[in-house]
Amino acid sequence: MSDFATHQQLAEKYLKRFKDNVTGHFINGEMVVPEGAQTFSNPTPIDNTRLGEVVAGTEADVDRACEAAEAAFEEWRDVPGAERKKILTRFADKLVEHAEEIALVESVDCGQTIRFMKQAAVRGAANFRFFADKAPEARDGKALHQVEHTNFTVRSPIGPVGIITPWNTPFMLSTWKIAPALAAGCTVVHKPAELSPLTAAILAEVSVEAGLPKGVWNMVNGFGETAGRRVSEHPAIKAVSFVGETVTGTHIMRQSSPTLKRIHLELGGKNPVIVFDDADFERALDAVVFMIYSLNGQRCTSSSRLLIQSGIRERFIAALEQRVANLKVGHPLDPQTDVGPLIHPEHFAKVMSYMEAATSEGATIAVGGKRRDDLGAGNYFAPTLFTGANSDMKISREEIFGPVLTVLDFDTEAEAIKLANDTSYGLAGYIWTNDQGRAMRLAHKIEAGMLWINSENNRNLPSPFGGIKMSGIGRDGGDYSFDFYMETKNVCLAHGTHRVPVMGR
Ligand code: NAD
Repeated sequence: MSDFATHQQLAEKYLKRFKDNVTGHFINGEMVVPEGAQTFSNPTPIDNTRLGEVVAGTEADVDRACEAAEAAFEEWRDVPGAERKKILTRFADKLVEHAEEIALVESVDCGQTIRFMKQAAVRGAANFRFFADKAPEARDGKALHQVEHTNFTVRSPIGPVGIITPWNTPFMLSTWKIAPALAAGCTVVHKPAELSPLTAAILAEVSVEAGLPKGVWNMVNGFGETAGRRVSEHPAIKAVSFVGETVTGTHIMRQSSPTLKRIHLELGGKNPVIVFDDADFERALDAVVFMIYSLNGQRCTSSSRLLIQSGIRERFIAALEQRVANLKVGHPLDPQTDVGPLIHPEHFAKVMSYMEAATSEGATIAVGGKRRDDLGAGNYFAPTLFTGANSDMKISREEIFGPVLTVLDFDTEAEAIKLANDTSYGLAGYIWTNDQGRAMRLAHKIEAGMLWINSENNRNLPSPFGGIKMSGIGRDGGDYSFDFYMETKNVCLAHGTHRVPVMGR
């Protein structure tokens, strides 16, 4: 039997319970489907048939989850770091045991190819393991000396936090947020994306197997405007970590302001990859293709604008056209598939609308640009390459969030910098050159939270992750995550030698 057929059989086995039962919330350690709850259908992008029903969380459901998180915080905040480390390490081990199930369910639920989703649980487990190891040092602070005083800082968990996540790589992104929050000593109310709710339900089961105390991590399914909004408004929630679209980020900011929450926003991008004439041609070509066409182009750090220097332009575009045309679009469970179906028909229509926008503004669709009708009723879109574009066009300015690359030309370093920064976004940038000095000059001048030089998106858990401009506020990763999920307190100790001001003696 081919791997594809095996994947399909196993996926069917794992998905059966979601088809047969309503997927509920996870509140105070229990899976719950509130009585009389409204549900919504969860379709698969593979053919838009129903994978099952999911509870549409109400304000009251969110309130119950927030109350559970608030009650559990009283104990969890004081669980010693070494003990939290043990629980979170067990969590990581259990995720690895469920790796096959998580990969297959995620792939069918959100259309990401198994080729990349195979790593979903492993990366999720790595997130848990990394922050488990850091849990014992979460409270550590600094010593700051003065002549007659010594200051030291201590950190304490901020309280129950809200985590609101998108559909593009739901499992990995959720664990990336949940693991540091738990390691810091916070309790969590998580609202997964309504378009990809299933792996969050598996995470709930794993949390029980791992022995996470009741109420420490709670999950409420449902829509952004109801369940998500309430998470960002609830007074018990002290901070909200949000990953999603820029416009939604502005809603979160507004909704959470009356209760003065700390917010962390990881939003959209229109990231440039800049290839200079002197770059390693083949490595740059591999990276350019990988960073926009992997994960169906539904990736916040995808390099959706290629800035190509004039000396290699023709040769590079010719090679790129061949590569894009060669990409295998198909069923996400087929291990040979490079690009799977887009998440939802509405998102498909959004991506499709940029084809018309491109041609009406004068760009050329060099490759793709259409639905892959031959692949059936799913949201299959042909990987697309736009040439002949300029920086004012919609295809150069708006986040398309699909397997679609816009090529822009430049002659000089100054032009490359100007083009790279000609966007409201500022998440990531990629620079390909063999001139180290130039790479450094660009690293300083490009307005983005993260830059990779002669590399695709390499991930390093201790490094800061996040954007500037309309791509977000705040940083994740290593100690940056603890800074977000914890309050820093300064304690000032006098040496008994300084003069205390005297009044009214
Ligand atoms: P989205 O903003 O539509 O939804 C994200 C989450 O927010 C969902 O759970 C949704 O239910 C919830 N939500 C919607 N409205 C809400 C409201 N008013 N209050 C509270 N919650 C609300 O985003 P999406 O379409 O699911 O994801 C794609 C977007 O995410 C893209 O723009 C992509 O760039 C971005 N993204 C960014 C990063 C990053 O690290 N910067 C990573 C992945 C995805």
